[in-house]
Order: sequence, then C-alpha cells, then structure tokens
Amino acid sequence: EPASERLYHLDGELVPAPEATVSVDDRGFRYGDGAFETLRAYGGSIFEWEAHADRLERTCEAIGLEHGLSRQELADRIEATLAANDLTDAYVRLSITRGVQPGTLAPRPEVDPTVVVYVKPLPRGGLEGESVWDGPATLQTVKVRRIPDAALPAGAKTHNYLNGILARQELHDADEALVRDLEGDVAEGATSNVFFVDDGGLHTPTTEGAVLPGITRRVVLELAADAGIPIDEGRFRPEDVRQADEVFLTNTTWVVRPVDRVDGITLGDGDERERPVTSLLARLFDERVERDHYG
Ligand code: PMP
Repeated sequence: EPASERLYHLDGELVPAPEATVSVDDRGFRYGDGAFETLRAYGGSIFEWEAHADRLERTCEAIGLEHGLSRQELADRIEATLAANDLTDAYVRLSITRGVQPGTLAPRPEVDPTVVVYVKPLPRGGLEGESVWDGPATLQTVKVRRIPDAALPAGAKTHNYLNGILARQELHDADEALVRDLEGDVAEGATSNVFFVDDGGLHTPTTEGAVLPGITRRVVLELAADAGIPIDEGRFRPEDVRQADEVFLTNTTWVVRPVDRVDGITLGDGDERERPVTSLLARLFDERVERDHYG
C-alpha cells in the first residue's frame, strides 16, 4: 500500500500524504526544534496512550514548547487519522514542532505549532514479531556516545535524532547499535532500550543516566516484577551484555526483540529454548496487548 494513498493529519486537516508538506522556515526543519512520539494502534486504540501523552508533555516542557493543544485534541486527531485511513493496527507518529517564527535561534513564546499525525499499516507482530522484524537482532557497540542528559534532556523525545543516525551509520552487518554514555556504560540502542538476563535476573540501564525512558521498557519491567523476576536497573559495561545468557531490545515497533549476537559473539547457542526469560516476557506482553485491545 503506497504512502500516496494515505491521509495524514496536518495542522487540523486531513490531507493526502503527498500534499502534507511543511514550510522550509519551520523550526522543526531548521533546527530539529520539535517533540514527537512513536505510537502503536492495536485493534483501533493506542497502546499506553496516557504514558505517551505524559512523555510528550515532559518533552515539550523540557524544550519550553507550549503548543496549546489538549491531550484530548491530540487523541482525537490520532483517532481521526486512523479512521480516515481505515486502519486499526498501525504505526503512528505524532510530531509537534515550534512552527514558523520570525527571527533566529531563540524561540518566541507565542507559537503556531506544526502538528502532524503520520500513520502506516502495521499488523500486530505476534511473539516472533513476524510483521515487524526478520528474526533476532544483532547488536554492535558503536563509537559515538549518547548525548548526555546535561546537553539535551535524555527523557525528551525531540526531533533531534542525529545521535541515533550517527550510531546506526557505524553499523556493519548489525541491526542495532549498542550506544554507551560518556563514562562508557551501556545507555541504549539508537531507537530501543537494552535488557539482558544473567542467572535468571533481568538487568537494564537505569533511566537516571542518558537513556530514554521507553514505554515498552516500563511495561516489560512491570510484567517482569509481576512474574517475580529479579530486576536490576543499574550501570553496565558492554562486556556484561556480551557475556549475558540472554539479551533483548524493546521499543514500540519491535516490542520485545531477542538479540542473538553482540559484537560478533553469539549468545547461548542462538536457540529459542535458551531464551526462557525473553520468551516469557514476549508472551506476557502479547497477552497484555490481547487483553487490552482485542479482549
Ligand atoms: N530509546 C530511544 C533513543 C528511542 O528512540 C526509542 C523509541 N522511541 C526507545 C528508546 C524505546 O522507546 P519506546 O518503548 O517508548 O518506543
């Protein structure tokens, strides 16, 4: 299904995708001055909408962007876009930029934001992520470091994704980057959070560091806690990940994606049965999606 057949929501109107264009003077284009969320619709409703709306609000606060739209208005625009495209299972991106303003870098408080809802079909992936990824991921530790929180608030999901782009550009034959912070501790992937399992315990870098607090990450931690799996949010080195029994990545699109190789080293024997914790969490996640969206 080509994008040209789709309708996007731009500044309050549904418009055919090819006509959904933004000014070259838009601050989102000029400076990456905007906030966004990647969301997922399952069975016609957004997974963890309130959590995404909270994170968007925190991003806007972090960059001082007062867009003036209520949470309900944003939800209505997403719903209208899904309906107009006859989609119930979809990838959704909601972007808000500071729009066009006179002057240069310093923003003005009065904002006429550019608000975009982009959708594309994305069937529920199932336990093996069938519709989304092609088998377990390979990870590669990259040289570029995560932008520290003191330079750009790590909890903010802004239009500035060059850090992740640079990380992905370093990859040879790997699916995702293992990005470290300035101290050399594991932070996250270019667009995912990183987990590993050792002696049955679940480990993931703390969001007190330079890590985006992923919504999928938070749900996985809740499911793990409910299942009685010991959880350790801390500081880890790439060696810890390479030596782990199991490694997996989380994000809205991949959900729980197992990793079978880190820096060329194959974990376990690459066999599904050797990933009991990853498999359990993927199943619990899928059951939660089933219960909340198709039940
Ligand atoms: N870290 C980064 C840098 C990301 O871009 C994403 C994707 N939004 C994630 C982590 C995972 O977040 P979520 O589970 O909310 O998709």
